[in-house]
Amino acid sequence: MNLPEAFLSRMRTQLGETEFQAYLSAMARPARRALRVNTLKTDAAALFSLLRLPQEPCGVIPEGFFVPEGFAPGTQPLHAAGLFYMQEPSAQFPAALLGAQPGETVLDLCAAPGGKTGQLAAAMQNRGLLIANEVSPARSSVLCGTLERLGVQNALVTSMRPDALCPLLASRCDAVLVDAPCSGEAMFRRDPRALADWSEAHVLSCAERQRGILASAAEAVRPGGRLVYSTCAFSPEENEETVARFLQAHPEFSCQAQRRLYPHSSPGEGQFAALLLRKGGPAPAAAAPLRGPQRRAGAAQTEPPAALRRFFSETMRVPPAAQVRTLPDGRVFLLPERLPALLERMRVLRAGVLAGELRGARFVPAHGLFLAYPKSAFSAAAELEGAALSAFLAGEAIPCDPALSGYVAACVSGHPLGFGKAAGGTLKNHLPKGLRIR
Ligand code: SAM
Repeated sequence: MNLPEAFLSRMRTQLGETEFQAYLSAMARPARRALRVNTLKTDAAALFSLLRLPQEPCGVIPEGFFVPEGFAPGTQPLHAAGLFYMQEPSAQFPAALLGAQPGETVLDLCAAPGGKTGQLAAAMQNRGLLIANEVSPARSSVLCGTLERLGVQNALVTSMRPDALCPLLASRCDAVLVDAPCSGEAMFRRDPRALADWSEAHVLSCAERQRGILASAAEAVRPGGRLVYSTCAFSPEENEETVARFLQAHPEFSCQAQRRLYPHSSPGEGQFAALLLRKGGPAPAAAAPLRGPQRRAGAAQTEPPAALRRFFSETMRVPPAAQVRTLPDGRVFLLPERLPALLERMRVLRAGVLAGELRGARFVPAHGLFLAYPKSAFSAAAELEGAALSAFLAGEAIPCDPALSGYVAACVSGHPLGFGKAAGGTLKNHLPKGLRIR
């Protein structure tokens, strides 16, 4: 690999000759791939037994494991069912450092494609409120897809600039993650674009942008709350210097921990993360709560409509406990535990689980509803394997038990990966086109 001369010279100065040589040796080896077990749906023992792979822990978080060369997640039905997320080991560190807890209000400010958001939701056990923000509209739709597949129920997905969103959340968040856009110096083995885009000028412009994002993030943190700042870059300008300038401008914060991971000294590609604590304030349980969903005339309806109640009683053994909100366009959401008071001023893409859509007197369920709940929540399920599973994943109608009728959860190894509508011994396929595997 041809690393830029100026980058190498900076790394030599930063690391010293011996460590620099260790870094170069690490970079000469191929990157190893890893996954994070999605504990919202399974555990490591069950997943690896289904994958028929040995468990090889990465050693960063208990849910992180290396996968063998040639492992192809895109063709794995268990991936489609959301049982794991491909995430390189050092990228698993920042969300773990934030220590999100069930019931908290957590903001993930730079969230797409959603690897760390999924990890935060798992730590929160789907309880509390997880605001997942991504400024880029294209990337925010990828974020929605990730959260849907992983079965995340407690996320409010927004697409806003940090300086517009954070004032609306003023001092309300228990914990905020800023996984900032950066020069990507730790991604050189995996992302040729990061390598091609690198220059010293790019490092400095990233640092400037990061300072702005971090300053906005500070506004959202409640007194006594936590803020994690992370990058996948090695430059001091984007890391220690950004944190130092932040602390100078925000004396109400202190740095609790700061860590660099390098490919020669830790598993994975490398990462920087700092844990900052906002001084003062109440203990977590006494923090001011965000208010419940606002009722606004003509905007949205919170009572479950009759068609939805009928669908729940016919299709779900355990109807969702979440509050329902129907939007004027007919989309029905199952809301997270609580929503911010200033919701109407936010650019919200998704609030909780998109359950489906009301079309006149009918309710048509959405793919995400079947990914958000376990097989046991549904009245009817079809276990698929072999040719039937491949055909279903390819989007085809498949034969099913003639006794089945109506909406049926399509499952692999006991986990829903979509749904179909059964009639006369055929399961009509409802897998979204973009998710089909041929
Ligand atoms: N946390 C993500 C994950 O684990 O999947 C990765 C986030 S990536 C390192 C940084 C994100 O910041 C990108 O999705 C990018 O679109 C977004 N971004 C770029 N410019 C931004 C800005 N000015 N403010 C906020 N976010 C920005």
